[in-house]
Formats: sequence, structure tokens, C-alpha cells
Amino acid sequence: MPAPDNLIVGIDLGTTNSLVAVCDERGPRALPDPANGSVLLPSVVRLEPLAGGGFRPVVGEDAKRLAPDYPASTFSSVKRLMGRSIDDAAGDIPYLPYRIARGDQDTVRVVVETPTGPRLVSPQEISAHVLRALKERAETALGVEVRRAVVTVPAYFDDAQRQATRDAGRLAGLEVVRIINEPTAAALAYGLGLERESVRNTGPQLVAVYDLGGGTFDISILKLSDSAAAPAGTGDSAGTRFFQVLSTAGDTHLGGDDVDRVLVDFALGRADRTRDRLSPGDLGRLTAAAESAKRLLSDADAADISTALDDGSELACSISRAEFEQLIAAWVERTIACCRRAITDATRRLNAAQAPAVDSVVMVGGSSRIPLVRRRVAEFFGVEPYTAIDPDQVVALGASVQASILSGATRGQLLLDVIPLSLGVETVGGAVAKLIMRNSTVPTRATEMFSTSVDGQTSIKIHILQGEREMVDDCRSLGVFHVRGIPPMPAGIPQLQVEFLVDSNGVLSVSAVEKRSGRRAAVQVIPNHGLTRDEVERIERESVVHAREDMQRHRVVDLIVNCKLDLKWIGERLERLKDQVEPAYGQRLRGGMAALSAMVQAAEADWRAVDANLMHELKEQLDRESIRLQELSIAESLRSEPPRR
Ligand code: AMP
Repeated sequence: MPAPDNLIVGIDLGTTNSLVAVCDERGPRALPDPANGSVLLPSVVRLEPLAGGGFRPVVGEDAKRLAPDYPASTFSSVKRLMGRSIDDAAGDIPYLPYRIARGDQDTVRVVVETPTGPRLVSPQEISAHVLRALKERAETALGVEVRRAVVTVPAYFDDAQRQATRDAGRLAGLEVVRIINEPTAAALAYGLGLERESVRNTGPQLVAVYDLGGGTFDISILKLSDSAAAPAGTGDSAGTRFFQVLSTAGDTHLGGDDVDRVLVDFALGRADRTRDRLSPGDLGRLTAAAESAKRLLSDADAADISTALDDGSELACSISRAEFEQLIAAWVERTIACCRRAITDATRRLNAAQAPAVDSVVMVGGSSRIPLVRRRVAEFFGVEPYTAIDPDQVVALGASVQASILSGATRGQLLLDVIPLSLGVETVGGAVAKLIMRNSTVPTRATEMFSTSVDGQTSIKIHILQGEREMVDDCRSLGVFHVRGIPPMPAGIPQLQVEFLVDSNGVLSVSAVEKRSGRRAAVQVIPNHGLTRDEVERIERESVVHAREDMQRHRVVDLIVNCKLDLKWIGERLERLKDQVEPAYGQRLRGGMAALSAMVQAAEADWRAVDANLMHELKEQLDRESIRLQELSIAESLRSEPPRR
């Protein structure tokens, strides 16, 4: 396989999971395992002793699955040991299921049992197996040899820990061209620190990176300034701008696993049971059920925790989002206390009299998906955090962005000060309502009101689209979300306000609030990810070619919707007032309705089959004809109103 000189991949070598990503002209993307499609590789290695000496390494999902059967030869969380002395690692050792021994110069070694006695292996060697698996994955996906990588490490890693990470790369056959801090990588994934007209000469910016995973929490405050003004050796340089780590804080044993335990205790409490009466198998299954309920609660208002126990009974309960938030409030506050510490340290570092304002907050780690976490982080820092990129992938993606800068590849990431393609939402009938037009300069914002087209709708779908064409099928889908829990109302009564906000980094936040009920939902996306310049040009060309036809189709679709609303309204009133309507008038109305109805049906079958002008004319005629019916209806409702006192 050829090894292109300029190919550098980005690797997130994580405590629990690791990933590899590349950044090409479509932007950054994580590479999946061809066997199961997952981009996460569990950072778990089993060293299976071979009869003739030596080991066969089993890496990732297979090693993780078999870990309970081979606790002494399966190594996880090795990142906690990298480059540390046995005394430094003492706090972590009780949490690890395998044996640890002292190596040369007080280094940490893991102990592998073999038929000929125990063998000592360095954490670097274990990590090298993970890195080699990622290298092979990238080679399979890209079809070329991969020799060079940018690897991320926590901001608090010291020189020895960084050197150990480099050594692990070398053992895996990878040249680690640069080690960058995980928070820097996360910021780069969002385009922070990359050259762009609108952020030039804006002075230093502060970025907070909030990283809440399964077992660890890290908060980092970064200062982003021009390379020229930045002190040497204190951070990461990303092309034109420079990331300096002002402060870090966190807790190496705080994460989503704690929430799983809280939920297990909640379920046990509901069932009047205690932990000590459960078998290890029971506890494992109950924890898994609690974890999946926790994930569900990030989207749903309630979830069930249920599992069968070894004694044949069933343990089941349900928990609402509000109960869940109450249970985890103290846990979330522990992370906020760390944020407060980090801000205090950053203030001191800047010699500032008061805490500086944070310009952007980036969310990392699976547990940052929890809505209460997002809300509290937004409140604490006073800015809406960035959540557009999968929080499990954001570090690896950022590493690949740094890799593409180092390799000199043209990023082609469309880091523009204008929005290259219009942004909008789907409306009834599959048409697109554009809120932000192409070539608008960023930052920009737009709002529009929408309503429902069906009676009693309690959930409204918002489908975000990008492109210049008029119909959904001809645009690029950027995401879908729902505003749920709206009380049932007749069609057209709910008032849904949709807001699009594109900030100066090109991140689009879409929020929707139903004004009568106050129910809201929001989502973030990065519209330009996955787009190339060529595609933008093609989309523009196509919109010109199809402009006439598209306009006509959009008009017919809107007419269908409006005609149906009229037909429904008139039909209902005609039925209710049939005794008061003169027979001849009723007949005329029914005739008009039948004609329009037939036209709507024809238009629904094929929009080209109808003359939109004629359809519009028929609708207007029916509307005029129905004025008398409307008057009768008003008179009736006045009569039936209770007399005023
Ligand atoms: P990480 O170490 O970043 O992979 O984070 C994994 C943690 O994130 C685990 O505790 C997961 O249970 C948690 N997690 C993943 N997805 C969700 C979700 N949708 N809602 C809440 N927690 C999640």
C-alpha cells in the first residue's frame, strides 16, 4: 500500500474509548470499524498467553466483552497509568481489576499471568495495541498506509505522560507528529482558532471546554490569541491562532457511571430491595438497564428501568425526567464547582480584577448530552454551549483538523463569512420555507411563526434543510427535532416560533417555542460540514435550472394546503348549520367544494396536472361564496354565548 506523505490522521486515545479521524475537503470524519460500523474502539486490550510464550492481543469490543471472564489479563483504563510513577498512580490502582507492579525507576507495570509465571508489561505497550488497531482501521478505510498521526492528551498531562503517549505511537508504527491537548482539539473541531475574516483582529477570546465522560470530568479554560502575541511553550498553535491553557480543573472519578449507580439505588428503593441481596449478575443487568434509561431520559420525558432477577422475580419502575433531574442535581453541581474553580484560576492567571467573560463553551463526552447538564453549563457560563458535534467524537475530529493543517492539505472546509447555501425548515406538503438566505453574512439570525395543519397535534416536527430548491427532496437535510408535549389544539391555533441563529463560527442553533404552551426544543448543527465547494456550485447551478418549475411546484403545494383548510372549515360549518342554510345556497356551496376537492386530489397525485391559476381562482370563488355561511356561523355563536350579566 502506498503511504501518501501528506496523510496524517487524528487520534483520540481515550480512557474508555479511542477513535481515529481524517479531515479532507468535506471536513472531519471519524472512521468506523468495518465489522460493526462503530467509530468507538473500546480502549481495552486482552493479552492472551500463547503456548510457546508471548501473547496474542485482542483489542476493542471483543476484549471488552470477554473482560469479566479474564479480569486478570484484560487491561482497561490504562491511560490512567501512562507515564506515571507507581506512587503517582496509587490513587487509581484500587479502581483497576488487574494487578500492578513496580517497574524500573518506580514506573508502573501491569502484570500478565502466563503459564510460565507473571510477566510485566508497560502501559505504553498496552496503549500501542489500541493505536495499532486504529492505524489498521484507518488503512482499511482509506486504502493507503498510515504512518503519521496527531494524538490528543488531557491538558493536565505532564511531560512524562506526553512522552509515554509518543512512545506508544512509536511502538504501534506511528510517528506522532504532534501531541495536542484534548480541549484544544475539541475547540478546533468547531473551527475555533482557524483563520477566518470575521475573527481576525477581534482580540483574545476565552473558550471553556466541559468534558464529562463515563468516569472522568475535566474543565479547561483556553485563551485563544494570535500566535505573535502568545507565549511560547504553553499551549497549542493551530495555524494562525494559538491556544493557551489558562486553567484546568476536574475530578478523575466523576462521570456518567455515578449516575448509573444513583439510578440503580433509585430502582432498588422503589422495589424495597437492597444491593447486598443482589447477585453480581443481577447488579450488572440492573446497571445496564439504568444506563439505558439514563440515555432515554436525555430525549424523553420518562423512562422505565426493568430487569429480571436471578430469583425469578422482576424489578421494574419508571422515572420521570423531573425525578431524574432531582436525583442528579448534586452530581451536576459538583461539576459546576470545578468550573468555578477553573474560572477563579484563569482570573488569577490573567491578573484580572474580576472573572473574564467566556466567549464559547464546547461540550465533550457522552454525559454532556444530559439536558440538565447543558442547562446548568449554559447558566453558569452565560452562553449557549456548542453541542452540534457528537460529544464522543469531537476530540478525534479536532485532532484530524490539526492533522490536516499540519499536512498542508487544503481544508476546503468552507470557513466563510457568508452562508453559502440558504437555510430553512420543512413546511406542510414537503415544501421548504427559507429563513436565512444564501450569502447572508455571519453572524445572522431570523425568526418565523408557524402553526399546525392537523387538529390535536401534540408534537411538531422541525426538519432543518439547506439548499436553494423549493422542495424538501431537492435540499440537504441537516437534522430533525420535535417540540413535544403541546396540549391538543385545533389546526392553525398553536403558535410555533422558530429561530435560526448562525454565530460567527458558522454554528447554526435552531430553537422552536410553542407560544401558547411554552414548550420548547432546540438543536445545533454545523451546516457546512460534509460540503465541498464543488457541491455548493452544483447546488447553485441546479437551482437556476429548476427555478421556474420549483416556484410553480411550491405554489401548487401551498395551494393544496390552503384549499384543504378551507374545505375542512366550510364542510364543518355547512354540516352544523344545515338546518339554517337555504337549500339552493347549500347546493351551490357543495358544488364549489366538489370542484375544488377534485382539483386538490389531482394536484396531490401530480402537481403538474393542474393549472395553478385555475385552482387559485376556484378557491377564491369558494371563499367569496362562503361569506354568507361565515355570517350565519358568527350569528349562531353569538346566540349560543351565555348572556352577560
Ligand atoms: P465517554 O467516556 O465520553 O464515552 O462517555 C460515556 C458516558 O456517557 C457513559 O456514562 C454513558 O452512559 C454516557 N452517555 C452516553 N450517551 C448518553 C446520553 N444520550 N445521555 C446521557 N448519558 C449518555
